[in-house]
Amino acid sequence: MEHGLVIKNTGSWYLVKTNKGEEVKCKIKGNFRLKGIRSTSPVTVGDRVKIEINKEGTAFITEIEPRENYIIRKSSNLSKESHILAANIDQALLIITVSNPVTHTIFIDRFLATAEAYRIPAKIVINKTDNYNEDDTKYTDTLINLYTTIGYDCYKVSALTGKGINEIKKILKGKITLFSGNSGVGKSTLINAILPGLNLKTGTVSVSHHKGMHTTTFSEMFPLPEGGYIIDTPGVKGFGTIDFETEEVAHFFPEIFKISHDCRFNNCTHRHEPGCAVLAAVKQHLISESRYASYLSIIDDSTEGKYREGY
Ligand code: GDP
Ligand code: ZN
Repeated sequence: MEHGLVIKNTGSWYLVKTNKGEEVKCKIKGNFRLKGIRSTSPVTVGDRVKIEINKEGTAFITEIEPRENYIIRKSSNLSKESHILAANIDQALLIITVSNPVTHTIFIDRFLATAEAYRIPAKIVINKTDNYNEDDTKYTDTLINLYTTIGYDCYKVSALTGKGINEIKKILKGKITLFSGNSGVGKSTLINAILPGLNLKTGTVSVSHHKGMHTTTFSEMFPLPEGGYIIDTPGVKGFGTIDFETEEVAHFFPEIFKISHDCRFNNCTHRHEPGCAVLAAVKQHLISESRYASYLSIIDDSTEGKYREGY
């Protein structure tokens, strides 16, 4: 028996890096089930596992160690089955661009709120800064000011010129980091800039981006030369969906949550209630209007209870 880390899931087999440093192709036994989780695939990248290699050289995963965290995606709208994208993530990087394409603050805020819900520290990487005009640069600095004040570190980079990449390498060292971002922001180009040997395809739109397709995407972990891993979840823009309860949404907006202690009612939803400290703070520009708008949009979604695409 050996211990190892699942670094790749192909759907039919898993690649496990053992503590001795070997990479072993493993299968799971047919009757293998993880308690409490209904999933199309019970093992995922980032899982720490026990494996057994039998005499014929076939290896099996026999046990999964308890997970620190994991992120899931529903297989489809109607299905209750979920697909576990990755486990044991130390931090998440959201790659954004302020032009070509524009990443909207609502997307950023939904991502950050989901990261808070999963208790995964998130950081923001603003890419394509080589391509920004004066307005783009001003807006970039506004975003940086907004998000660093709340507590999310921001980094300005250009995957194309290599500017800022060393800073990113520093924060990746020794950690398992999830890379996320809308398609076209340069996620693949950035990963290639960090790991030049990898040669991920860039500039291509994979089929899984198309709405309505229920393609199962499998995540992969790429080892970093100085320790740590990058997790890429192809075709998944963010974390996948999460169903927020209206009452808990404010918990995932740290600056809103902090001020909400001063609301008159402790079940305040911060929409229209008298004595709402959050509404007052928005009026006084102590809470950003864009953050508040994102908060409302998540509340509205959870109120309506409608199915949402992974973001
Ligand atoms: P992904 O969909 O997020 O993986 O994006 P890609 O890495 O495929 O990049 C999308 C397009 O943006 C490609 O044409 C890249 O060459 C371009 N791109 C990526 N990074 C940069 C950058 O830092 N600056 C500029 N100007 N273009 C970039
Ligand atoms: Zn309130």
